[in-house]
Amino acid sequence: METYDFIVIGSGPAGRRAAVQAAKLGHSVLVVEGRRRVGGVSVHTGTIPSKTLRETALNLSGWRERGFYGSSYRVKKEIRGEDLGIRLTKTLEHEVDVLEHQFQRNNVRTIAGTARFLDPHRLNIRCVDDSDLVVSGERILIAVGTVPFRPESIPFDDDHILDSDAVIEAPRVPRSLTVIGAGVIGIEYATIFSALDVPVTLIEPRESFLDFIDREIIQEFVHILRDRGTIIRLGSKVVKIEKGKDGWPVTTLEGGRTIRSDMLLYAAGRMGATDPLDLAACGLAVDARGRLAVDPKTFQTAVPHIYAAGDVIGFPSLASTSMEQGRIAACHAFGLPMPPAPQYFPYGIYAVPEISTVGMNEEEVRARGIGYECGIARFRETSRGHIMGLSNGMMKMLFSLKTRRLLGVHIIGEGATELIHIGQAVLNLKGTLDYFIENTFNYPTLAEAYKIAALDAWNRMPKVAC
Ligand SMILES: Cc1cc2nc3c(=O)[nH]c(=O)nc-3n(C[C@H](O)[C@H](O)[C@H](O)COP(=O)(O)OP(=O)(O)OC[C@H]3O[C@@H](n4cnc5c(N)ncnc54)[C@H](O)[C@@H]3O)c2cc1C
Repeated sequence: METYDFIVIGSGPAGRRAAVQAAKLGHSVLVVEGRRRVGGVSVHTGTIPSKTLRETALNLSGWRERGFYGSSYRVKKEIRGEDLGIRLTKTLEHEVDVLEHQFQRNNVRTIAGTARFLDPHRLNIRCVDDSDLVVSGERILIAVGTVPFRPESIPFDDDHILDSDAVIEAPRVPRSLTVIGAGVIGIEYATIFSALDVPVTLIEPRESFLDFIDREIIQEFVHILRDRGTIIRLGSKVVKIEKGKDGWPVTTLEGGRTIRSDMLLYAAGRMGATDPLDLAACGLAVDARGRLAVDPKTFQTAVPHIYAAGDVIGFPSLASTSMEQGRIAACHAFGLPMPPAPQYFPYGIYAVPEISTVGMNEEEVRARGIGYECGIARFRETSRGHIMGLSNGMMKMLFSLKTRRLLGVHIIGEGATELIHIGQAVLNLKGTLDYFIENTFNYPTLAEAYKIAALDAWNRMPKVAC
């Protein structure tokens, strides 16, 4: 039986960061990955493919130039599934290649197969060639991620009715699209296809969506989407999804209303991929969504030598945070405890337009009874915005009236997911409004919005003599 200091189950962001970190600390490491190639959901069906599809859609549709040349402007007149697929295949190949090389360079062994626990230290691996292998690990990390939630009642056919994994596997441009679930994934795909001029209907059973985002940003977002023809049905419960005679899905809402579309994307949540692990054999149990509980500082499960990180432990379920969790878990496992991650991390939603946020939103600041002032900048007020032909986009910053500390930054518009890091640095370094007032920003940039928003707040705040 092969034995290792560290066995990592799953090669997504959490698993790969943990594996490389443990190897760099001089330990023998095995990564077991259920797919034929490493990378996890992040590389094969989640983060990277969806962002690549977004980039392709924006480039081929000429989306970024429409502010200047009008909404009928297109770089490529007829965009087909194959056009979307080319960039996807190339990007994924490159990502996997880089990862495989990283594992090789660091002497991390990888096995393609599905792991299940035999006891708290031993795992059986059903390899992709159907052979079985038993391995033992002194410490183990569970980084198996999630799978899409697929209710039995929905007639998925991976062509007209798909989940978020299938939509990317053989992308096509539908004549019309219904998206069920206004979570991050549903929103991203709804807006990417809408940028390709596909008529989109977004259905969400709750009256609101993306509740962790500042409401003013969401209002702006809804306005932009409706303005370009996206139908958003909030508070609409789906009672039935069936296939019509032509194969097109028909969605029936409570109250009897029906929506027929060429494609239906069901994006109503994901489940921890813990079923195949046989966790009872190592003394662990999961919650109703298949997720594991961990100590949030060390990422240890109830069995101290077994760690869990990434989407399998639930919120925030981001590739970015999963990587950090994996690294912290590996360091802790080998006696190198890390300081806890800073309180505020950025959240990026790669919709069209992008949304990104860090720190407290206005609703949270109010709920905590903190006296605050808010500053707003519109991208169209910046020279870079004029050059780029941006018609929308805004930044909102919140500052404490008492301490002048930055409390939160909320951005919607082009480049939001990059711009947010300036706000993140100031926030986590406990900076104040004065940073933005005193410092010079490159000109013309979208980052100038920080200056404009800060001055907007400053003009309304009590002045401090210099
Ligand atoms: C459509 C979509 C878009 C996203 N966009 C973003 C984004 O823009 N930014 C962002 O930060 N995050 C994004 N995410 C989330 C991000 O993909 C996840 O947070 C991240 O992939 C989680 O990483 P992980 O390490 O938990 O494992 P995953 O990436 O989920 O990988 C887990 C791996 O474990 C393997 N595995 C499972 N069970 C076993 C087993 N028993 N034996 C062996 N191997 C097993 C699986 O095959 C899989 O490859 C997106 C997700 C989706 C679905």
